[in-house]
Amino acid sequence: MAAVKRVPFIAGNWKMNLDHLQSIAFVQKLAWSLKDANHDFGAVEVAVFPPFTDLRSVQTLISGDKLEVAYGAQDVSQFDSGAYTGEISGAFLKALDCAYVIIGHSERRTMHAESDEVVAAKSAAAVKHGIVPVICVGETAEDLEKHGPSAVPVAQLKAALAGLSGAVDIVVAYEPVWAIGSGLAATPEQAEQVCAALRKVIADTLGKDVADATRILYGGSVKAANIAGFMREPNVDGALVGGASLDTKEFSDIARFQKHVGT
Ligand code: PEP
Repeated sequence: MAAVKRVPFIAGNWKMNLDHLQSIAFVQKLAWSLKDANHDFGAVEVAVFPPFTDLRSVQTLISGDKLEVAYGAQDVSQFDSGAYTGEISGAFLKALDCAYVIIGHSERRTMHAESDEVVAAKSAAAVKHGIVPVICVGETAEDLEKHGPSAVPVAQLKAALAGLSGAVDIVVAYEPVWAIGSGLAATPEQAEQVCAALRKVIADTLGKDVADATRILYGGSVKAANIAGFMREPNVDGALVGGASLDTKEFSDIARFQKHVGT
């Protein structure tokens, strides 16, 4: 049987950077720089994840100028509406045409005490509203030492998928916490080992077809200089990029990894 073709996905998590005016200039510059380089958006999907307050501006720019850059939010509420001060409903994100939402980023798990149950509920809420969840999992340095490379991300993913069933469209991001923002990326071999284990979890939970179709990203100190190594691995389908996604040249060079994957 022919191998399933997954469109590589390069996603930029801006975190709490760039306000709505800066987001317009940034997305314009990114789109131009990719267009100038003849980027084939059908061959490698590129998405940005700005703060909530930028989403309307990004939507207006992207739809008005017919840019091929996708966008999503950095979090979503597990609830649809009601007395949840500060929370944002999936329905509101859908109304802004968000295609994706990041769920369970390690910064939210750590700083906002998001449990596996909350991550599962948020993932189910995203799917319910027709938004693709980008479900983040990853071990700390301590977990790595105590449990080895795959145990914690595998357990987190099993828990996150608990509320999902059927032919769901999801993205999984393997982000070792020790690699995020540290400048110390995992090796491509380490990333492949965990991503392969995560694909098996998806196959066991949601079936082989969903596992074959799901894009699994690596995240943690990705830059233009190291992306090619990750993209050569069979179970790594893209990258979730933090710091380097805030530099249009660096981020577009990451998105254009096919130009240097053979080097
Ligand atoms: C992230 O926060 O998702 C991330 C991967 O950050 P960085 O690329 O800066 O390590």
